[in-house]
Amino acid sequence: MLKVLLASRNAGKLREFSALLPDLQFVLWPADAPELPETGAFFQDNALQKAKGARAWWLEHGTESVDGVLADDSGLCVDALWGGPGVLSARFALDLPSYLDRNHRLLAMLPEGVDRTARFVCVLAFTPMPSRLHGEPFTVSGAVEGTLAFEHRGENGFGYDPIFIPDGFDQTFGELPSGTKHTLSHRARACAALRERLPAPHP
Ligand code: IMP
Repeated sequence: MLKVLLASRNAGKLREFSALLPDLQFVLWPADAPELPETGAFFQDNALQKAKGARAWWLEHGTESVDGVLADDSGLCVDALWGGPGVLSARFALDLPSYLDRNHRLLAMLPEGVDRTARFVCVLAFTPMPSRLHGEPFTVSGAVEGTLAFEHRGENGFGYDPIFIPDGFDQTFGELPSGTKHTLSHRARACAALRERLPAPHP
């Protein structure tokens, strides 16, 4: 089984990776490890920056050997907001205490009658650990198209899930079962592409 360091403390992402990549063993980013900078303008830059930063830190401070490092940079891109919050999704409206409040603020930013189309985007970066796996760092990506709901609906998932209605459904990701999200989400699609690039699991 491949052992992979997950360069994230986001509990929602963590739950999803365990479900989407059940044949990988995840080592969690330790509580005493530094915050990983994400200063790029694009999801891809940030994912690579986090994966490489985590690998460098782990090579010096890691407590167990891992085969590689996985980082996720993702977000919600709203067409009427020129693609925002996009790469800034994790930093949007941080003055508000909860995603319930942040989601209300985001919806309030959309003028009446405006196009509500949006997409979730996920870029995964994988960096092999030297001496454990061959190859260069690489990225894969996935996206899911949809529209924004008129209010926060449902408690499933995390983050912006309760205001995002994927195309082909009437319910938000907050209302749909996690199993449905995992068949079509941005992260599910990126994980499928990642699986193709990793060594096959042993039978
Ligand atoms: P980052 O990748 O750490 O910059 O943060 C991504 C942010 O985008 C998360 O904190 C969420 O706010 C949002 N996001 C990414 N993926 C999802 C998802 O699957 N559902 C809901 N929100 C998401």
